[in-house]
Amino acid sequence: MLQVTQTSQCTVFTCSYVNDKSATVCLTCRSCLSNSPFFMHRVFISNLQKEIEKQTGYRSSRKRRSESQYDYEVYHTLEEIQSWMFVINRTHPDLVDMFSIGKSYEGKPLYVLQLGKRSRPHKKAVWIDCGVHAREWIGPAFCQWFVKEAINSYQYDSVMRRLLNQLNFYVMPVFNVDGYQFSWTTDRFWRKTRSKNHKFHCRGVDANRNWKVKWCDEGASFHPCDDTYCGPFPESEPEVKAVAKFLRKHKKRIKAYISIHAYAQMLLYPYSYKYATIPNFDCVESAAHNAVTALYSAYGVKYRYGPASTTLYVSSGSSIDWAYRNGIPYAFAFELRDTGHFGFLLPESLINPTCTETMRAVKAIALGLLKKCETDRSRFPYI
Ligand SMILES: [Zn+2]
Repeated sequence: MLQVTQTSQCTVFTCSYVNDKSATVCLTCRSCLSNSPFFMHRVFISNLQKEIEKQTGYRSSRKRRSESQYDYEVYHTLEEIQSWMFVINRTHPDLVDMFSIGKSYEGKPLYVLQLGKRSRPHKKAVWIDCGVHAREWIGPAFCQWFVKEAINSYQYDSVMRRLLNQLNFYVMPVFNVDGYQFSWTTDRFWRKTRSKNHKFHCRGVDANRNWKVKWCDEGASFHPCDDTYCGPFPESEPEVKAVAKFLRKHKKRIKAYISIHAYAQMLLYPYSYKYATIPNFDCVESAAHNAVTALYSAYGVKYRYGPASTTLYVSSGSSIDWAYRNGIPYAFAFELRDTGHFGFLLPESLINPTCTETMRAVKAIALGLLKKCETDRSRFPYI
């Protein structure tokens, strides 16, 4: 029997490696209240294998044939998600456009859905990506939820109608397609991409340490076997390179970059790589405050928010720092539910509440883009 154990000194935990099949799981503390030398632990999930199988096993309820049958409250395989994207694209030509921005290391297409009314050219845009880290399955579940909600509520929700009339949303449901598939077939706790290394047998690069901004400095590893391996050079991963290229091309229109991760219940903004305040702090801070307030209004779930470096940890080569440096004034990373009880194995029964509350937060951020926030433009670019 496999077990998850957690240190009581930590506020947020990571279950990284399953050592063997005899009840051992290695943990690293992601956000500690103190650097206590004492390692205390308690069991949160007594049968980890069973918990994993609950989410990957075959069920007749895993509906996927048509859009009306699609079950948004289960986790879906990459194949199911891609088929779903084709259906959505085909059935909503007025609001949806689907395209590929490149290919993954293993040659899989990197699909993006564009949402928005084709009311006028050069609309402001919001980028949302999910599934940068393979094991964070609630991410892709949220991106699908967002698309479904946007399309359905366009009919009756005046706020959503305004958003889709005035903005375009670029939604990438699975950023790290190779890693996501591997987390279904082989290793549920896989985080990185699946690229091969010349010298080591370890595979994969952390797709949130591979961006060309203070690349491979503090909070990233040079070692290919580490979970935070930055890669041989910036944008070495075709997935990162493809998204960076798209964002660079459309940076004049993209006003917000949102990356969905799990878990910690936090809303983070730049900087990740240093302890410093961003020039448009007031605007970003107030957007974050509005977002977590909207999120809280659904079920009373509390999110911490602030600069990634001080709120979570210092990390270099992250996507939010890169987006910010490239002129996207609002760059956010969400760390969705929970704070460590289930961690990456968030039960499917929590997909609905988690996505419902996150939807409110994302809508609040997008709505804020339609209003003006005064900031010192002469200090652009921000890094
Ligand atoms: Zn992540």
